[in-house]
Amino acid sequence: MTTRVWDYLAEYAKEKDDILDAVQKVFGSGQLVLGESVREFEAEFAGYHGLAHCTGVDNGTNAVKLGLEALGIGPGDEVITVSNTAAPTVVAIAGAGATPVFADIRADDFLIDVDQVAAAITPRTKAIVPVHLYGQCADMAALNRLAGEHGLKILEDCAQAHGARQHGRIAGTMGDAAAFSFYPTKVLGAYGDGGAVLTSDEEIDRNLRQLRYYGMEKVYYVVRSPGHNARLDEVQAEILRRKLRRLDDYIAGRNAVARRYEERLGDLTGPGGLLLPATNPGNTHVYYVYVVRHPRRDEIIEALKSHDIFLNISYPWPVHTMSGFAGLGYRPGSLPVTEELAGEIFSLPMYPSLPESEQDRVIDALRTVLEKL
Ligand SMILES: *Cc1c(COP(=O)(O)O)cnc(C)c1O
Repeated sequence: MTTRVWDYLAEYAKEKDDILDAVQKVFGSGQLVLGESVREFEAEFAGYHGLAHCTGVDNGTNAVKLGLEALGIGPGDEVITVSNTAAPTVVAIAGAGATPVFADIRADDFLIDVDQVAAAITPRTKAIVPVHLYGQCADMAALNRLAGEHGLKILEDCAQAHGARQHGRIAGTMGDAAAFSFYPTKVLGAYGDGGAVLTSDEEIDRNLRQLRYYGMEKVYYVVRSPGHNARLDEVQAEILRRKLRRLDDYIAGRNAVARRYEERLGDLTGPGGLLLPATNPGNTHVYYVYVVRHPRRDEIIEALKSHDIFLNISYPWPVHTMSGFAGLGYRPGSLPVTEELAGEIFSLPMYPSLPESEQDRVIDALRTVLEKL
């Protein structure tokens, strides 16, 4: 038996009738692009968050990019984010024509360090893109305070944090706008690509609708300023509508997996050894990935392969060290916490339909490997 960090086939077996019914509904609807399913999903996803506006887009990368563009961010502007993130966060900032600037993270929760954000602000800084990494929210009260003092916009990157809460507020409602991905592995995942941008601001939403539709004012078929083709697909929207109804169950399932890891690995943890993820006070965690830490990470991953267990690292290469971003001028050592963590973190299997027997196999193998280290 081979175990990987993520697999959707057990979930598909359980939900197959509903998923295929969604596909048939769209195929028979007579409207294959920007039809009823996209409209309804947008209303339902906005409603889940208690916000007025949601614009569906084709993926999470474009959700970040169009989100920034809709906020008026572009060439010449600096946008502060983290280097310990999925590269698309940064690709999207560059794609909007802005310059990514990196703040280091905190060693305890791996999230953006607000003091480092403050230190990175220049007269050209226009926005902050906090990433709610792994499934819990960055410190939004402190970020909003800082943004208010400096007149900065905040675009939350919620690609890993559907349904996560902070002091009762849900991720995606604590900035000027919020970008979501529905890539299949995400907490709310489509059967292909998808994304969305949430906002409570009508004008930002109007900008988004034009940006995803060539830059056209749809009524007049006139391009106001050249945009993109970045529409959410109708089939994916209908599948997402069905899955949104189960989002709270998916989150509960992920939390059950996390509790089992805590119960069955907790006794092995300690400074200089294995560390399990911590949830900050005031946060609820949705465990997009279950990231643990150990100084001998590479040996552990290698040893687990002989047990037919193949783990991932989110993420092994901090974005500022990637050759594609060398032009930004960051040198090794410039983000010490990010760089140290990148050498020690790895992800255990995490998805709501992970069978307990398979999780226990991973736990037993990890215990064996750690004892022999
Ligand atoms: C997945 C992800 C994205 C990109 O989403 P896509 O749908 O793959 O384009 C952006 N930011 C973060 C933090 C992500 O995890």
